[in-house]
Amino acid sequence: MDRLEIFIRYVKIDTQSDDTTGKTPSTEKQKNLGVLLVHELLELGLTDAHMDEWGNVYGHLPGKGSRIGLNAHMDTALEVTGANVKPHLIKKYLGGTIKLANGLEMSPEEFPILNNHIGHDLVVTDGNTLLGADDKAGIAIIMNALRYYHDNPDLKHSNISVCFTVDEEIGEGPLHFDYRKMKAKYAYTIDGSDIDKIECENFNAYGASITFKGVSIHPGEGKNKLVNAINLANEFINNLPQNETPFESEGKQGFFHITSLEGNSELATLTMIIRDFKDKGIEKRVDAVKNAVKKVQQAHPTALVEINIKKQYVNMRKYVDRKPMAIKRAKNALKANGINPSLGSIRGGTDGATFSKNGLITPNLGTGSYNHHGRFEFLDVQEYEKMIDVVIELVK
Ligand SMILES: [Zn+2]
Repeated sequence: MDRLEIFIRYVKIDTQSDDTTGKTPSTEKQKNLGVLLVHELLELGLTDAHMDEWGNVYGHLPGKGSRIGLNAHMDTALEVTGANVKPHLIKKYLGGTIKLANGLEMSPEEFPILNNHIGHDLVVTDGNTLLGADDKAGIAIIMNALRYYHDNPDLKHSNISVCFTVDEEIGEGPLHFDYRKMKAKYAYTIDGSDIDKIECENFNAYGASITFKGVSIHPGEGKNKLVNAINLANEFINNLPQNETPFESEGKQGFFHITSLEGNSELATLTMIIRDFKDKGIEKRVDAVKNAVKKVQQAHPTALVEINIKKQYVNMRKYVDRKPMAIKRAKNALKANGINPSLGSIRGGTDGATFSKNGLITPNLGTGSYNHHGRFEFLDVQEYEKMIDVVIELVK
């Protein structure tokens, strides 16, 4: 089987997760891919390969020297269906607009990133689904690297731990992750885009839910009595630092983002996320949200404003910095394959952030796939194949 075929086979298995079931795995169908992967890992000589009760797949390949972990996630994003994925291969993309099978068009004007992939083979969707290269490209890269060592038994490699996780897309990848099973010195998630990037930094993240209880009374008699919960929510939003939304931020800037607002004049509930790369920065933002709540409460003593704020994940940078070997090793593997590596940051989260905080340093590497979570997702085949060679080098 060639290197791309493995990927094509995985994306045809629907593994979309679901944030409403409250179960692990959130969808049973993720196990369909898990079962196949266990079978293939056993074939490749990972004799202890198995799927645990949560749907996570583990396996170990004995080698020499330090133990390196490789991780990718089996589920696909919630935004677009992952059922009936019909990947389409474009040989030598010449530039210009790509017409997807259902009539949708992907143009370089709308997606300038396409211009970086001229001359390469691309795998695109038929426009009805996502591709699921996030993160089946990661899984396929790891499986191809393992196959390489299986087919070349004389070549030496490190001790390798492999884990394929469920429910990354709903932020629950690390929930039942077994660090003792992984037992690696450090690990890599293969779950990014650009192949020259070693991502070792991500947002610090909080989520908040704020309830506004107004005072309900006949509006005709509301003078100095009726307190409208919707107006309270509106006041709260106005009390937040202005011009610091996702629309207005990029690079290393953080933001406040209202994710939902629902209710009526009596009761309104608002949810939001708070993001910042710096520890001091996220503290400041959390304080700003609390102060905005306080101001509304003080202005309306007969109303009740309650906030519930929770830490979601942390920037992994300070943990990664404690084990520079993980970055150094990735840099060397990229350089050995003619890629000039650079350190990148993720304007979001990664399972690796939680792994790193819990002691398993886990930077993120690219897969050569882009436009994740949507119908315009695509894989650059040459970059994907390059990453297989990078992972082969990484565990050498
Ligand atoms: Zn992913």
